[in-house]
Amino acid sequence: MYLDNSATTQVSEEVFNEMEPYFTQEFGNPSTLYKIGRESKKALDLARQRVADAINAKPEEIFFTSGGSESDNLAIKGIAFKLAKKGKHIITTNIEHPAVKNTLGFLESLDFKVTYLPVYEDGLIKIEDLKEAITDETILITVMHANNEIGTVQPIEEIGKIAREKKIKFHTDAVQSFGKIEVDVEKLNVDLLSLSSHKINGPKGVGALYIKKGTRVVPLIHGGGQEKGIRSGTENVPGIVGFGKACELASQQLEQHYEKLSSIRDELIEKVLATIPEAYLNGDRENRLPNLVNFRFKAIEGESLILLLDAKGYQASTGSACSSNTLEASPVLTALGLDPVDVHGSLRISLAPESDEFDVDEFVNVIEESVSRLREMSPLWNQELDYDGVMCKKHDDCRLC
Ligand SMILES: *Cc1c(COP(=O)(O)O)cnc(C)c1O
Repeated sequence: MYLDNSATTQVSEEVFNEMEPYFTQEFGNPSTLYKIGRESKKALDLARQRVADAINAKPEEIFFTSGGSESDNLAIKGIAFKLAKKGKHIITTNIEHPAVKNTLGFLESLDFKVTYLPVYEDGLIKIEDLKEAITDETILITVMHANNEIGTVQPIEEIGKIAREKKIKFHTDAVQSFGKIEVDVEKLNVDLLSLSSHKINGPKGVGALYIKKGTRVVPLIHGGGQEKGIRSGTENVPGIVGFGKACELASQQLEQHYEKLSSIRDELIEKVLATIPEAYLNGDRENRLPNLVNFRFKAIEGESLILLLDAKGYQASTGSACSSNTLEASPVLTALGLDPVDVHGSLRISLAPESDEFDVDEFVNVIEESVSRLREMSPLWNQELDYDGVMCKKHDDCRLC
């Protein structure tokens, strides 16, 4: 049972079938004039229309990239370099994806100033903090739509309104929210928005940046002038075709999937919190994606829990995929203000709409068993003795185990 859909998803059969001819028969370069090139160009145009439709944009506002990371880089560096003469101050949050965070770190080395808005225990920023952070030098606000580790959804619409009033460019990384909740560039009041294909059952290595008409960015890749000079290089035609199809399917199924996933999510949260002692939900209960939950269990090492779950056939993660092979504490969970020890005991579960055979009760039982087993061995858990009653919290008749 694959429960790590925030890390990546399986390419759906419909998407794969649509891509396949563009690897073999329809291999033309879309910039050429003869028939096979024109066919590729047509396929690109259709994909661009599909991506645009999925976010209520115009096709000419969609720029294909190699994925979410490149889109974030293009948006942030593209605006920073374009507007550096106007000001060098950028506002973001302290729970952004590394593609945003490390891009901003790079800009700091070039003398840009970055304000990292705190999130509170609910994983959300406060609008008041944002208002206070804005200066005459502020050229860009970049705040992610939904967080990839805890699934919380930021008040993008409201941030966008403030940015627009103050005439500051506003970018959001919508990689996790896209396909899960409504992403409408008009309603969200954004100037730039990042998308990635492999998080929505499309192929890896493709994505797009929405750039609102009239917003200028400096390109990162110079060359033959593809994508109106914003992103040179011969287009990844099969990938883009697959991405376009994945966007079409995601928007058609959005409401149906939302209903289905959010009801599984709610049942999962309710049962885990009711069954397992000292279990907590990370991030706000209400403002969250329908498919993502992140728990923490006291006195548990997340990595050990992942391995036990894997042995029982469940693939989930602790922290994010990007940092799971390092043993560093998750910066996102740390930003919530949690005790560093508790940060290590987290479990991220991200569901896919196609996981019909997923049985919540069975899964919660497996988590419960695994958590108890690990706690039996954990010195941290044994420290939690109730010395007054001379018993631990686990055994009824314990005399200090
Ligand atoms: C996965 C992810 C990215 C990176 O997208 P890639 O296509 O893998 O480069 C960026 N932002 C968020 C929030 C993500 O979840």
